[in-house]
Order: sequence, then C-alpha cells, then structure tokens
Amino acid sequence: MPRKSDRIIFKQVPFVTSKNCIRVGRVKIGGGNSVAVQTMTNTKTEDVHSTLEQIYAAESAGCDLIRISCPTAESTLAVRSIIKTLSDRGSADTAHIPIIADIHFDYRRAIEAMEAGVQGVRINPGNIGNEGLKEIVKKAKESACSLRIGINSGSIERDVLLKYGKPTAAALVESAVLNCKKLEDLDYTNFKVSVKSSDVRTAVEAYRKLSEMIEYPLHLGITESGTYFPGTIKSSIGIGTLLMEGIGDTIRVSLSGNILDEIKVGRQILKSIGMLNNCVDIVSCPTCSRALIDVIGISQEIERYCENIRISLKISILGCVVNGPGEAMTADIGVFGFNESGLAKIYVRGKEKCIAEESRIVEIIKDVISEIEPES
Ligand code: SF4
Repeated sequence: MPRKSDRIIFKQVPFVTSKNCIRVGRVKIGGGNSVAVQTMTNTKTEDVHSTLEQIYAAESAGCDLIRISCPTAESTLAVRSIIKTLSDRGSADTAHIPIIADIHFDYRRAIEAMEAGVQGVRINPGNIGNEGLKEIVKKAKESACSLRIGINSGSIERDVLLKYGKPTAAALVESAVLNCKKLEDLDYTNFKVSVKSSDVRTAVEAYRKLSEMIEYPLHLGITESGTYFPGTIKSSIGIGTLLMEGIGDTIRVSLSGNILDEIKVGRQILKSIGMLNNCVDIVSCPTCSRALIDVIGISQEIERYCENIRISLKISILGCVVNGPGEAMTADIGVFGFNESGLAKIYVRGKEKCIAEESRIVEIIKDVISEIEPES
C-alpha cells in the first residue's frame, strides 16, 4: 500500500481573499482562511427537535456554519434550547457547529439570540433602525458575536433605490458601504458582508465592485436561485466566477429544495476549483461506443459511497484505453476498461494493482479507499 506521503492532494488555491479575518464560533472567516460553506435550516425554529435533526444532518454533510431564522420571541427561545443541546453533546474542548441567527426587522430578536448563545447574527441594518442597531452592536461586543450585513435586491434603502431606479449592482454596493460605515461609526468591525441578487450578472458585478472598496470578509450567494437544477447552475456560475477571481470567504447555495443539496453543491463548487481539501474527486468519462465497462453505474455507486468520506483522493473511472491510462496515472485510484471481455485495469498511485472483472471493480475501489488513512 502506498505511503500516506505519496498521496496526491489538492493544494489549497493560494487566492488571497479579504484581509480582515473574523471568527464565527470555531470557524475563521476571511484573511486567507478556507472558504466556509453555509446553509440555513428550513424547519420551524420553534420545533427544536426537527431543527436539531436538520443541524446534525447538515454538519454530517460538511456544513461549516448554519443559519436559523428568528422571526419571533418563541423562535429565539427555541434557539436557546438548540444551542444548549449542541453544547451538551460535545466535550469541553470541541465547540459545536456555529449557529447564526437571521434577523430581519426586530432588533430585540438579535439581542435575544445573542443571549441564547449564537455565534453570529445576520442583519440588514437598513431594516433595523439606528437605535436598534446600537443595541445590537453593544450586545455583539459584549458577547464577542460577529454580524453579517446582508444586503439583497429586495431590501435596499428607499433613497438608494430611488437614486438608481432599480436594484442595480451599484445600488447594492452603495447600500452595503453605507451600512459598513454605520457599524464602523459604532466602533465595530467584527462583521462580514453580502450583496446578493437573484440575477447572476448583478450579483457578480456587485461583489466585484465591493471587493475593491472594503476589506471585510464577503459572504457569497445568488439569492433565490431556484430549484435544484437551475439553482445549481446559477450558483456555480456566480459563486464560482467570484471565487476564481479571489473574491469570497464564505458561500451559501440557495435552493428551493433539500438543504443538504445546498451543502453538496457548495462543496462541489469548492472542490471543482481546488478550494476544498479532504474530499473525494471523481473523474469519469461520458462513455461512447468504445466503453468496455459500465462507467456510469460504477461512477454513481462510488460517488454515493464517497459522499461522507473526508480524505483527499482522486479517483478516475474511464471506459477504455483511449484516455484511461493517462488519467489513471495521475489519480490515486484509476480504473479503465481494458478488453472486450469486460476486464478493467486498476491502478493505485500510478502503479498497476490488478486486472479485474467488471463485477469486482466497485468492491476493489472500496477496499483501496478503506485502506487509506484519513487526513489528520
Ligand atoms: S475514455 Fe474511452 S469510453 Fe470513455 S469517452 Fe473516452 S473514448 Fe469513450
């Protein structure tokens, strides 16, 4: 078995994102730290059991930060129970997944959420009012809680909207900068910013402009991007474009669907551009008449098997010798169809391991994976 040091590991892309670094509980955001993946629960927050179940599932799926909406006093009371359960579950030195309260209009919900122990609060200061904002910042300082200024097309201040006529990228940026200034005037800088739009071009333009103007961490997202298929495409283009330019410190893929899909897509975006360690990357061909093994079936089975495996690994599964050997040589595990009898060659770290019948390929790949120790 190859030594651990021989493993091919994706390098963290050396992009420099925002210079400021903030901490949301156990997760550092900005300042060159890894891009964090977020999602948001869609249970009734008051339903503590269901919300906790969703948090556990999200964490297992690789979520780094989780947001919970807090529209009522009952919901912030529920957050208190949720955080207590999460805290009781871990040991003294293992902090639980950071919880961020999402507040829209009532500053009192933010105060209650911070008293309940959340590590972050998402606000739109334009909806809160100056007095409420002062109270929130005072509490955030006392409890070392971070904030997010969450601007989106539907919540730009009336005068800014009048100036631009519609929620353009410039309007989003102006609103964000105004609100950054409000927090700075209160001597508070422990925050990140988002300027989301459901229009991909508007969001990309807004984030590009904003990244030239401020050094606070940026949370990226294409808001209300739709159901799984269109939402995945829109988010991949918008978020992917920005990340490739070195913009963005945390992301949320916003889908009308299962929140676990949001995490899966978010992680896949990061994985696709080499910004996610400890994950399995599967390279497989589209197949054609030359295919000698069932590439599609084998790839899908291995993908399901690897969903929750947290090691850096590249697996290539190709149908024939046209491209198979080349890909196999650069993968940790490489498989390709070898002859008309359905035999496949299996390579491990560039060396031929065996020739196997098609029916044994999945089993052999799983065995090799299980022999590889996880990253420490
Ligand atoms: S690797 Fe072979 S089977 Fe797969 S698409 Fe290319 S030529 Fe076709």
